[in-house]
Amino acid sequence: MASKFENRLFVDGEFTAARSGKTFDIFNPATTQKLGSVCEASVEDVDAAVEAATRAFESWSELPGAKRGDWLNRLADKLAENVEEMSHLEAITMGRPVHNDFIIPRGIDIIRYFANRASDIQGETSLSDPSLFGMTICQPFGVTGAIIPWNTPILMLAMKIGPALASGNTMVLKTSEKSPLSCLVVARCMKEIGFPRGVLNILSGFGRPCGEAIAKHMDIRKLAFTGSTATGKAIKKVAAESNLKNVTVELGGKSPLIIFEDADLAQAAADAAFSITVVSGQACMANSRVYVEESRAREFLDLIKAEINKIGTSGDPLATGTLRGPQADRVQYERILSFLDLAREEKLEVALGGDRENKTGYYIQPTVIYNAPDQSRLVKEEIFGPVLCLFTFTDEAEVLRRANDTEYGLYASVYTRDIKRALRVSKKLQAGTVGVNVTSPTTSLDLPFGGWKESGEGRELGKHALDSWTEVKTVLIRM
Ligand code: NAD
Repeated sequence: MASKFENRLFVDGEFTAARSGKTFDIFNPATTQKLGSVCEASVEDVDAAVEAATRAFESWSELPGAKRGDWLNRLADKLAENVEEMSHLEAITMGRPVHNDFIIPRGIDIIRYFANRASDIQGETSLSDPSLFGMTICQPFGVTGAIIPWNTPILMLAMKIGPALASGNTMVLKTSEKSPLSCLVVARCMKEIGFPRGVLNILSGFGRPCGEAIAKHMDIRKLAFTGSTATGKAIKKVAAESNLKNVTVELGGKSPLIIFEDADLAQAAADAAFSITVVSGQACMANSRVYVEESRAREFLDLIKAEINKIGTSGDPLATGTLRGPQADRVQYERILSFLDLAREEKLEVALGGDRENKTGYYIQPTVIYNAPDQSRLVKEEIFGPVLCLFTFTDEAEVLRRANDTEYGLYASVYTRDIKRALRVSKKLQAGTVGVNVTSPTTSLDLPFGGWKESGEGRELGKHALDSWTEVKTVLIRM
């Protein structure tokens, strides 16, 4: 497939150049070569997109829920015809291999899930005061905003537009400057099926000025952000200082996986290896800290090394059979290498990998570090690369304390055959999702996904997501 791509902004149902005429360059991390340039949205483009979304709001929100669902299902059908192209564009911009790409189909499933919930949005009633008939109604915010990261653009777009549009909002969505192309295929698909104009506007651009202009826009009443914790905090600040818009944030992670000695070790090793290598470790929920009961730790280490080696050598993300691609860009690559330098400086036991790969492109070896000190930055900070810290433990209370000793709380897992222990540990783990004999990236479409602590606020997926895209109004009627 040739790498031709749309590079314009999508505003009011039309592709358009940026008002400033500015563009920015994008690069292929597998070759480090420039791919081309993309129009860069400015504050004026954000304003134009908000105006289009404002014009579209009344008719979109007044459609019967089932009709909005129809539109979303039609969009999902159209996207399903273009999976290969979107996969290709994500591969060339951020390096995720096209082979066995389950992530874009998952995004389409999410859009379908919310399409089918569009006529299932209700409030409650109350007769607790006999003089009143009380009820709540759930209504869309109006014009909403979304800012997404680069690691899985279509999946992230789906998590935002699914519940937002199903519940009657219109939206201005900003993609990441590193991987803006696949979402422009969504824009083209909308145009091809005649999706009501202005309902979804897609802007390519940087955090500043474009993302910040969305976060502080006075006509945007709700914003959903996915990205790093640092940016999430900055966005919440400007959102509060502007119009105190409702902000939900899905942020970083440093997810623990606890393996007790009675666990199916082979399964745990295969799952843990997949979790830390999928998207080259650039997944918010990757199990980057693995705690194995001491009696079986060396056995587990051998198993996980074998599982990681089975994934095979890294290669061209466009080639059939490649399961391991490069890191997304030079910044990401150098950041991960700086952590590997630190491992050397701290003289940690590097049980696997530990270095760049000797080839063109931003390739890094999958790495396992054995029993790093709990206070090391490698253990505390999100590396966002294929670097797994493996620890031993001897006691349940001790491992729970260590697993929870983090500012993050996105995903945690426990592997054991003891159901009582599984439930006890699940209850104690401080995370938005806990896997029992299963680990990330496993999620369920109809159950909430989100973070505790500094991993976020609010929930995506499931009914909770619809709740967070509607305002609740109480209506009181004198009896
Ligand atoms: P990032 O925070 O650098 O950027 C995310 C988005 O925010 C981009 O679109 C960027 O342009 C924009 N942005 C940057 N500065 C901004 C500002 N001042 N105002 C408004 N927008 C701004 O994150 P990233 O590097 O793109 O993604 C990696 C991070 O995302 C990791 O920390 C990862 O854990 C997190 N992530 C979380 C989830 C989740 O669901 N919890 C999913 C994927 C990624």
